[in-house]
Formats: sequence, structure tokens, C-alpha cells
Amino acid sequence: MPSVVIAGAGLVGALNACFFAQKGWDVSVYEFRKDIRTMKHVQGRSINLALSQRGKSALEAVGLREYIVNQGVPMYARLVHNKDGKTFSRQPYGKPGEHIVSINRRHLNEVMITQAEKSPNVKFFFEHKVKSIDYEKKQLVVQCTSQPSRIPSFGRKPSQQENPEIHVEADLILACDGAYSAVRRSLMAIPRFDFSQEYIEHGYVELNILANNNRFAFEENVFHLWPRGHFTLIALANKDKTFTVTIFAPFTEFEKHMSTTKDVLSFFEENFPDAYKLLGKEHITETFNRVKPQPLVSIKCSPHSFFDNLVLMGDAAHAMVPFYGQGMNCGFEDCLVFSETLEEYGNDIASAVQAYSKKRVNDAHSINDLAMYNYEELKDLVNRNSYKLRKKFDTIMNMIFKNSWIPLYSMVTFTRIPYSEVIERRKKQDKVVSGILKTTSLFALIGIVAGIYSNRKVLGL
Ligand code: FAD
Repeated sequence: MPSVVIAGAGLVGALNACFFAQKGWDVSVYEFRKDIRTMKHVQGRSINLALSQRGKSALEAVGLREYIVNQGVPMYARLVHNKDGKTFSRQPYGKPGEHIVSINRRHLNEVMITQAEKSPNVKFFFEHKVKSIDYEKKQLVVQCTSQPSRIPSFGRKPSQQENPEIHVEADLILACDGAYSAVRRSLMAIPRFDFSQEYIEHGYVELNILANNNRFAFEENVFHLWPRGHFTLIALANKDKTFTVTIFAPFTEFEKHMSTTKDVLSFFEENFPDAYKLLGKEHITETFNRVKPQPLVSIKCSPHSFFDNLVLMGDAAHAMVPFYGQGMNCGFEDCLVFSETLEEYGNDIASAVQAYSKKRVNDAHSINDLAMYNYEELKDLVNRNSYKLRKKFDTIMNMIFKNSWIPLYSMVTFTRIPYSEVIERRKKQDKVVSGILKTTSLFALIGIVAGIYSNRKVLGL
């Protein structure tokens, strides 16, 4: 059987291990952290994530979809909280029943590691840092970071060089070592390797709302949103009846309005009065004293494959801002697309690696751009009438033209239409809308379309 070595046992690395375990390949995974299943606290990014169709399809292929989805909380709509703290507007995500699922990141990661490990041909090496790629020899350069047992040092500082670097060889190398990928860094000198990264002006801080007498403190089956122009708050429910709450704001805003206890409390009270009550003064103060806002980066690169056996996947290939909830979903779809490509090429690794990159780079760039666009939408647009009207119009058009007019959010979230095609389709829809708008208003248009819809049987549609 062929062998694969995977850098990183995060979400995408662990899912890849499941895919190749299923294929019967020899799998070795090198992960910098300790085994998260043995850790009390796991440091890292968002506590929970929104899982949608692309992610679900990939989990389905390794037999984990049902289990994981059942461990999550379905969300059917956005619930937009107004500034008075008392009124809301509800924006369904799609057709009745269509939903995304709030999943606990750590649990998901642990389940995938355990699933992969069930195969005797899979081995995880925790506390092993991938340092670089030796591209002359096509090997991964790895160093164990756990302290080896040693003779007493009598007060001397232990040397950093105690664990030697090892060179790992395999038929296929998958770099799934995240946004700051060491593998990608060591490929930078390769001619014609395009790379760009952009930090947005916003950072984020995560907070928590506890269960209220073993009940959810807010409605649980919606995505809570407090859009306030240039900053925004969101909350996603967890299975244990808590909510993970995230504030996104420009770093300048954090510095200006959230750097002292008094300031941060009055900022929350003024802008998110209902969330403020449930978060509580103590929790807000303690969180802002303990953690600093985290940056958000968007990364594009091309190609995603090198030589005839190395592929960058997940955030290592395309870290994106989290406003479309697609980073993990896209990374999971990477695993599925690569697995399908390998099958298409009869396990010819060199051809599959090339074909995968050709296919995937465009899609990765497209979802990166769409995530940036949704950043604007979540901050502000959801409150605008023109946005709401367009959403209504798209919904009605979708009722009439089921397969040819699918709203943008639905194409991204509830289908596996390639991201690049999503953008093309949206451009065509925009053209139609702006063509019609030259002669009529959006209100009138919705009236006409709604009329067509209610008389569709008479009209033979
Ligand atoms: P990571 O999850 O970063 O995993 C990389 C792994 O590699 C880690 O285990 C790390 O320890 C290991 N590693 C790193 N360097 C080395 C090294 N040198 N050697 C060995 N191991 C190494 N996506 C969604 O789909 N839905 C959401 O709702 C969503 N919400 C988000 C909210 C926030 C605030 C953020 C920041 C992101 C969100 N995302 C979401 C994006 C999602 O978190 C990422 O896309 C996803 O984690 C990518 O998985 P990955 O395995 O590629 O990278």
C-alpha cells in the first residue's frame, strides 16, 4: 500500500487521516501539540464552528456525518438583535428546514483522531514539530519537542538541540499545518510560487454565556447577530446549553473603547444591552483582563501542489476571514476533492496532485473573496433595506427557478457547487437584477415576481 505523511493533526489533518485510513494506506501524522484528548485546556481558535454542506459531505465519506451532526446544535436563521436590546429581526438561512450546525471544535477534532486511529496502519506522532520540507529529497523534516529523559543537569540549562531532526519520507505529503504553515514557508523560495496575505483591521475576543438553570439563556436554534456598523457581536449555542459569544472589532476600537474595565463594560452595555446582562460584568472584566484580541488573516497561494507528491490543504493553502463560516468547510471539502481526484486517476499520485491543484486553487481564491464580502455583510449590510429586499427577491426567484436561481448564501452553504462557479452564477444574477432595475424599482420587481409566483400554475411555470 502507498504511504502518506500528514503535517498537522488539526481539523483538516485529522480528517485526511480518516480518508487515508479508509483507503488502507500507511498513514503517519506529525502534530506539534500534545494529544488534545489528554489535555485539560486546549489553546487555540474559536470554541465552536458552523458546519455546513461541504463539511457534512466530507464527514459523510468517512462515516462520521451522522454522529457529528447529532453532537451539534442546528441553526435555521440569523436573529439580528437591535440596539434597544428588546427587538429582533429574523432572517432564515434558506428554505424551510435548511440549516447549519454549531459544532464544538475540540470534540470534532478528537472524534476524527480517534476514528483514524482505529486503523492499525495509522500512527499519530504528537509533540512533533514539522520544521520544513527537504525538497531535494522530498522529505518532511520533523523534530520531537517533548523533553527526553536525561541525566541531571545540575542547574545547567538543557540544550535545545537534544532531540535530533528526523527526515520522514512517504509517497504522498499533505501539509495541513494551518495558517502559519511551516511547510508552506519552506516552499517560498520556489520560483513562480504566488503568495499573498492580508490581516484585516479587525480582531476578535471570545466570551461565554452560561446555561440558565440548565436552559439556554437565548433561543438556541439561531445564529445571534448584533451588527453595529464597524464592529459586531455573534453568539452560537453549544450542546451543553452555553453560548460562545465573539466580538469582532477593529484593533483601534479595542484600544479606544475596551482597554479599561469601566470602558469595556459601558461599551457592552450601550451596544449589546441584552447580551451584556447575560454575559455579566464579572465575566466581561475577567475575559478582557486575561485575553488580548486575536488577529484575523486571509491567505492565498498558488499552486497548492509541488513536485509530484506534495499538497497544501486547509488553512495552510487558504486561510480566510471567518465571516462566511467556510474555513473548515472548505478545508474538509479539500480532503473530499483530493480523495475523489485520486480515485479518478486510479491512485496515480503525481497526476492527481497536479489535477487537484488546477481544480482547487480557483475555488480557494473564490471563497477567500466571498468571505471578505460577507465581512461587510455581517457588519452592516444585514441592516439595510436594499439588502433585505434583494434577499426576498432571491428567495422568490429560487421558488420559481429552483436550480437556476439559488441565492448566494445558499449556493455557498447548502450545495457543493464549486466556489468559483458560485461567483460566476451570482454575477449573472446581478446582471439580470441591475438590468431590470434600470426600468423599475426593487419593490415593484418583488411585487411582479411575487405575482408571477402565486399565479405560476396558471402561467404553466
Ligand atoms: P488548524 O485548525 O489551524 O490546524 C493546524 C494544525 O497543525 C494544528 O493542530 C497545529 O497545532 C498543527 N501545526 C501547526 N504548525 C505545525 C508544525 N510546524 N508542525 C506540526 N504541527 C503543526 N470555519 C468554518 O468552517 N466555520 C466556522 O464557523 C468557523 N469559525 C471560525 C471562527 C474563528 C474566530 C476563526 C479564527 C476561524 C473560524 N473558522 C471557521 C475557520 C477554521 O477555524 C479553520 O479554517 C480550520 O481550523 C482550518 O483547519 P486546519 O486543520 O487547516 O488548520
